Amino acid sequence: MIHRFDALILGGGAAGLMCAIEAGKRGRRVAVLEHADRLGKKILISGGGRCNFTNLYCQPENFLSSNPHFAKSALARYTPADFIALVDKHRIPYHEKTLGQLFCDRSARDVLAMLEEECRAAGVSIFLNTKIQEVARDAEFVLRAANAEFRAPALVVATGGLSIPKIGATSFGYELARQFDLKIREPRPGLVPLVLEAEDRSRYCDLTGVSAEVIADCGGQQFREKMLITHRGLSGPAMLQISSYWKKPQQIQIDLAPGAVPTAVFNDPQTPRTLTTLRSEFRKILPARFADRWLELHAPALWTNPALAHFEQQAHGWSITPAGTEGFEKAEVTCGGVDTDELSAKTMESRKVPGLFFIGEVVDVTGQLGGFNFQWAWASGAAAGRAL
Ligand SMILES: Cc1cc2nc3c(=O)[nH]c(=O)nc-3n(C[C@H](O)[C@H](O)[C@H](O)COP(=O)(O)OP(=O)(O)OC[C@H]3O[C@@H](n4cnc5c(N)ncnc54)[C@H](O)[C@@H]3O)c2cc1C
Repeated sequence: MIHRFDALILGGGAAGLMCAIEAGKRGRRVAVLEHADRLGKKILISGGGRCNFTNLYCQPENFLSSNPHFAKSALARYTPADFIALVDKHRIPYHEKTLGQLFCDRSARDVLAMLEEECRAAGVSIFLNTKIQEVARDAEFVLRAANAEFRAPALVVATGGLSIPKIGATSFGYELARQFDLKIREPRPGLVPLVLEAEDRSRYCDLTGVSAEVIADCGGQQFREKMLITHRGLSGPAMLQISSYWKKPQQIQIDLAPGAVPTAVFNDPQTPRTLTTLRSEFRKILPARFADRWLELHAPALWTNPALAHFEQQAHGWSITPAGTEGFEKAEVTCGGVDTDELSAKTMESRKVPGLFFIGEVVDVTGQLGGFNFQWAWASGAAAGRAL
């Protein structure tokens, strides 16, 4: 059976659905081809089930890409306010959790239901359980599944990244890009917990569950947020954020006492220069178990002013060299992807292959933690949808 459309959208996640809605609203006959048994599985598990669907303070600086300018155009033409207007139209209750991050009050299901409703209103055709075996291009794109063939002059690839393979992530989008001779920036896990070397694991990982506010720094990129000790390493927002910027074998510097000066207490000559005093100061800044452990391993060798200054320096710049990350199984996003040099920043269309578009996470644009990845999915999806 042959199905003919104006545009085929491969992948029914955040970016694919937004693209379909925008194109459908403009009268295009579009089909979303999804290999899973339902749309938007990642939306459903996002934000702990409440979907952090955008960020009020979204700026191009919140994104990583080999070309930091690429995302600007799409982000400017579909803003957080545009998505909030859609959420308001559907009367979905939401709240700002922290740092401009907007979450559903009830459930991520609200966001998916809204997108499905918008697809229905825009006349979008949805094909679930549709596994494309082959993509060819003659006068138009031809996609072959087991029992059907889909044809259209435009093909939008919205198959996402490699993170969380167990809910349907595939490398299909990257393979398709290679098939059409488009460059790929090596995909790697982002927003992912870090694994420590064996020695550091034995030093700290029995403190699993302990968390502290820190500043994590890698290559000049800094995040002041919570760090969490896990049974294999470090996680929590500060470490997830910095993981996207980290590449083996770089070091990460961690300020364990942001804005505090634990040794200042010794400026008073009456204060005894002892480990007990330093421990009680350090416990004011860090959870007691972590403060005690860190002091056991880094206590000043002497109680002289230079030794105390050295200790202070270490507390504000604890250097760790992670062994690696927890990989795509635990990563929230995939960094890297289809090289932005290959695409028009305005429409997401391939420069080499007219009619072929790439949107969302499959492109080499990755958001920081906090609703930015969905904003990129909406913005890049809208950019392509308006160009179809
Ligand atoms: C646990 C978790 C929590 C997250 N929470 C947030 C959050 O709160 N806020 C935020 O901004 N971001 C969050 N993210 C990131 C965000 O979910 C993604 O960046 C976003 O979904 C990317 O949208 P996309 O449409 O490009 O890809 P996806 O949403 O991954 O959609 C891709 C779709 O393509 C389908 N597909 C794959 N291969 C094929 C194929 N061969 N044929 C047909 N279909 C295919 C997939 O089944 C999927 O439906 C989270 C990610 C994870 C893993």
